[in-house]
Formats: sequence, structure tokens, C-alpha cells
Amino acid sequence: MGETIFSKIIRKEIPAHIVYETDEVLAFKDINPQAPVHVIIIPKITEIETTRDIDPKKHTKLLGALYEAANKIAKEMKVHETGFRLVLNCGPDSGQEVYHLHMHLLGGRKMNWPPG
Ligand code: 5GP
Repeated sequence: MGETIFSKIIRKEIPAHIVYETDEVLAFKDINPQAPVHVIIIPKITEIETTRDIDPKKHTKLLGALYEAANKIAKEMKVHETGFRLVLNCGPDSGQEVYHLHMHLLGGRKMNWPPG
């Protein structure tokens, strides 16, 4: 379960521009950026394919680690004060392409609402 392109990035089998890494979390620049700052933040475990698979009992610490990563990266990338958007696509209607839980961190430009 859960083998995706992101598994290969975690194992360093394919290159990625890694901006943050801990035992639990990896973050790297999106290959097809939609904003001046576009970072993908993922858990290193592969068992969570989407938000739907999050078990609050089991994954609370991991979720904290993902948001900690987001805030640290936003500071590092100088968008913490100007603002940024965190996106978690879930399932077909959202446009999710990679079924390994991931958070998009987007910033560095003014964004529209509602999203497309
Ligand atoms: P999703 O549509 O599933 O929410 O987003 C997946 C994201 O992963 C997309 O923005 C896509 O550009 C990015 N992505 C897919 N494959 C790769 C890859 O091999 N390397 C990197 N750095 N990003 C990728």
C-alpha cells in the first residue's frame, strides 16, 4: 500500500529539491510550481493516502509535525508574514494526483478565492 512517486523521493531514488527533513516529515519544492513559493510537505510513512485515512488517535503527533514544518518553511521562505495558503487535496473532485498525504504550501503572490 502507498507506493507512489513520493515514496521514491523519500528513499532518495529520484531527485527533489528538499527544503526540510526530520524523522517524520519531508518537504520539497513542487516540480510544477503554481506560485513563487510552492513546497510539498509529506509524512515519511506511506500508509496515509488521503485526509480520509487520518486516524486522530494514531496520527495526532504527525499532524502536529506537518504543521510545524509548514510554519518553519513559511518563515524560511519569507512568506510567514505576507501570508500563504496550505492545500490538502483529497480525492478525485479535488484534483488529487498523488495518493500519499501531502500539504501544498503556496505563497509569494496574491491568491484568489474561491480556488479553481
Ligand atoms: P496533488 O494534485 O496530488 O494534490 O499534488 C501533487 C503535486 O505533486 C503536484 O503539484 C505535482 O506538481 C507534484 N509532483 C508530482 N510529481 C512530482 C515529482 O516527481 N517531484 C516533485 N518535486 N513534485 C512532484
